[in-house]
Amino acid sequence: MDLKIKDKVFIISGGSKGIGEGITRTIVAESGIPVIATRSDEATIRISEELTRNSMKHHYVIGDLRDPENCKKVINETVEKFGRIDGIVNNAGVNDSIDLEAGPEAFRKSIDLNLFHYYDLVHYALPLLKKSKGSIVNISSKVALTGQGGTSGYAAAKGAQLALTREWAAALLKYSIRVNAIIPAEVMTPLYRKWLDMFENPDQKESEIKSKIPLGHRMTTIEEIASMVVFLLSPKSSHTTGQIIAVDGGYVHLDRSLT
Ligand code: NAP
Repeated sequence: MDLKIKDKVFIISGGSKGIGEGITRTIVAESGIPVIATRSDEATIRISEELTRNSMKHHYVIGDLRDPENCKKVINETVEKFGRIDGIVNNAGVNDSIDLEAGPEAFRKSIDLNLFHYYDLVHYALPLLKKSKGSIVNISSKVALTGQGGTSGYAAAKGAQLALTREWAAALLKYSIRVNAIIPAEVMTPLYRKWLDMFENPDQKESEIKSKIPLGHRMTTIEEIASMVVFLLSPKSSHTTGQIIAVDGGYVHLDRSLT
């Protein structure tokens, strides 16, 4: 299927590692133009060099998205370079294990790390998204629906992202801007690896988790998440908005007797 995103411009926060890298690469494979907004400089420069070698149009902005000025810079540089924005993928996030014991200051920092930049990027891009009738995809987490234990800040931020998905879908109907969310559950990325390695026996933990994933008893691949995201960015999903889609092999929603 041709997703019809040739030369369309998409901003991907955290777009050079894990799920974000997969989204960037899928956009490139469909001849779209990715703009990576991240603090991960080495990974970003590596991808940028590869894309340049292959003459693929792209751009990146290195900086911490907790700073709203940096979010503004991402939008301004994208417009200066390409003159348009066709979509935003809010993806950057960290499951930072800030729990009930951690205290008010740590909780606020966790929300800062995981939530405010989702709003800030969309806020600064809004005039451009109105022009292009763009698409927004928020990457949330199963934690928003199931809890995990020991991660109050991340859970609150991920839940808020789902609420904002519906709120923005309603608010932006009049501009034909679509807003959807993806719920990943178990995807092997640098972030997931770090989390798994906190357990005494990471291999055993990984096998336990896989055994409970109904479809194929395996983790979701980065590419499987990215394909859904880029479909939602594209005009091929032109009547889909306000949706919260779990791409997780049935992990969150299917009958437990199946695991
Ligand atoms: P990842 O491998 O750590 O990649 C995330 C990227 O975003 C990293 O490059 C990270 O930089 C960057 N980033 C994080 N906070 C940032 C900030 N404030 N400013 C700029 N860049 C920032 O993570 P992932 O597993 O692909 O996760 C991507 C998204 O999927 C997250 O929203 C996560 O909550 C969600 N998710 C993932 C899973 C999973 O199984 N992997 C499950 C549910 C939800 P650093 O490397 O410096 O942190």
